[in-house]
Amino acid sequence: MFKIGSIEAAPGASLTGTLAVAFGMDGREITIPIAVVNGREPGPVLLVEGGLHGIEIVTIDICRRLLQEHLDPAAVKGTIILAPQLNPWAFHASTRVTPHDFQDMNRVFPGADGGTLSHKVARVITQELLDRADYVIDCHSCNPPSIHFTIVGEDGDPDVRETSIRMARAFGYPILNAGTAHKGTLRGYCVSRGKPSITPEFVFSRRLDETSIRTGVVGILNVLKSLKMLPGEVEATTMDVFFEDIMDYTTLSARKGGICSFTAACGEPVVKGDTLAILRDIWGTEMERILAPESGILLAYPLQANQAAATGDKIAYLAFKAAPH
Ligand SMILES: [Zn+2]
Repeated sequence: MFKIGSIEAAPGASLTGTLAVAFGMDGREITIPIAVVNGREPGPVLLVEGGLHGIEIVTIDICRRLLQEHLDPAAVKGTIILAPQLNPWAFHASTRVTPHDFQDMNRVFPGADGGTLSHKVARVITQELLDRADYVIDCHSCNPPSIHFTIVGEDGDPDVRETSIRMARAFGYPILNAGTAHKGTLRGYCVSRGKPSITPEFVFSRRLDETSIRTGVVGILNVLKSLKMLPGEVEATTMDVFFEDIMDYTTLSARKGGICSFTAACGEPVVKGDTLAILRDIWGTEMERILAPESGILLAYPLQANQAAATGDKIAYLAFKAAPH
């Protein structure tokens, strides 16, 4: 019997339910939706989660399709947990961060008992979901223009990194090493606890993009096959794969600010010094150019709000040849 939240799944059962994570200002319990596919045969636990950022909703449709159309518990070895909406406050407000305390929930892991709402919810997610998983697929998305890619951690045990890379290769998107700048990420915590983990970045926040859903479903089934939790061979995804080698990436931010013109194409090679974006004021006066600090491949223009930036806002992700790891 696999028990989690309101679910008690016998071997061979596939069930939906809820997990209580906090209480609201009206005293009501706040829950997140979860599903469990408990294989008839015992084996490892794989968690698919998303929605830490409330505008990244595509994981909801990916998990629904996996549950309703693809995952037969009779064929599964081990247990799959699906948790596509980890931050219900941000989802209801259609915001990236938790509106109640303005925290980015993907910067507060493993959470803290003494913190604000986001820290406390992260603590529950850590104890109830992450600490029970052997493998984690941590789903995020980026607004277009962007390519699809998967991030793996650089730190932690070499065996964990190797298995994470194997999962990412099976998933099918181009692979990037995580920058070390982001402390408190869910994936970083999982890797530090010896759990191989990957972060696929789908395209489109706020929308249910069919390409992301289709390739996300195939990618997750591929990871399950590569871990022998499902029978069968890894299927090729029908994505454009823009690079085969694992690359590093860097975030380029605005020093000044302005309305942002994109001057390069995502997925295309750029040369050191190429202009990637131009920021202008309201009447068109150029404020600054965002230049490629080295040669590489442009991944995305990850502007999170309007196509405009203030000082410090992210403008572009640039992939470049990885340093030896
Ligand atoms: Zn995200």
